[in-house]
Amino acid sequence: RDEPVAGDKRVLLAAPRGYCAGVDRAVVAVEKALERYGSPVYVRKQIVHNVHVVSTLEKKGAIFVDEVGEVPRGSHLVFSAHGVSPAVVQGAADRDLQAIDATCPLVTKVHREATRFSRDDFHILLIGHEGHEEVEGTMGHAPERTTLVNSPDDVDTIDVPETERLVWLSQTTLSVDETMETVRRLRERFPHLQDPPSDDICYATQNRQVAVRKIAEGADLVIVVGSANSSNSVRLVEVALEYGAKAAYRVDYASEIRQEWLDGASTVGVTSGASVPEVLVQQVIDDLADAGYGDVKQVVTAEEDLMFSLPKELRRDLNGNQ
Ligand code: SF4
Repeated sequence: RDEPVAGDKRVLLAAPRGYCAGVDRAVVAVEKALERYGSPVYVRKQIVHNVHVVSTLEKKGAIFVDEVGEVPRGSHLVFSAHGVSPAVVQGAADRDLQAIDATCPLVTKVHREATRFSRDDFHILLIGHEGHEEVEGTMGHAPERTTLVNSPDDVDTIDVPETERLVWLSQTTLSVDETMETVRRLRERFPHLQDPPSDDICYATQNRQVAVRKIAEGADLVIVVGSANSSNSVRLVEVALEYGAKAAYRVDYASEIRQEWLDGASTVGVTSGASVPEVLVQQVIDDLADAGYGDVKQVVTAEEDLMFSLPKELRRDLNGNQ
């Protein structure tokens, strides 16, 4: 195909993109904890799934661990935005750790639903990705009463106990379309399946998927800034391809963009996952401008102004009432 001339080259920049309220709160919680208590502050798992955020906090004195058993007794420990099971909370208490819970309130909402449905004798079908930290945390709230549904194809093979009380819940960062397909197939197999009281896929995931669809329609290439283990970022690549982008790639940094991706591309869409700082998107925009894509149009599909207050343990100590 013909190489576009300079005047044809443009960037469509999706909005909303990048940081959601839960990520912003979790990152600020670690920063404030470091200011308040001094280094080191321990963090269980990556505070949010972004390599740049994690390495920046490490430089400031945060130490990331996989399990509470690695943390010296009495230390400050932050639980990540993805949430933890009650067993992890207990493990931290057993080691006399000063826990700061940065679980996103929208994940806590799903935890509460799991606890309540389990108490009311329901069996829970949790739609989510095996091994993801959020899924482990949510399943830990009703371990005996939850079955994981990893994909639409799982529906035919999962083993579910005989019960009239069956409800589905989901991970917060899934593809809306794929989740609805899973629910449709679940309902075919279990006609009495009940819906959750409200959406578990969070506002930020949904808004970023709507925005990427809009820019994907007319794009030769979509670049999604986000890390490989960021569920919502990986979903943005899939949604972009599904909604018409000729190609879509995920990068952590602008330096990963390959020249051959741009060959023949007139319109390049850019977005970022919910755990991605805007500075990384700006680097992509700058590099694209250097490559002749200086014409940038922002495509806005929603306004976001949600903010969450800091974890209560931190607010208490920041107010000096130790
Ligand atoms: Fe919370 Fe959604 Fe952000 Fe996850 S993506 S931290 S659930 S707002």
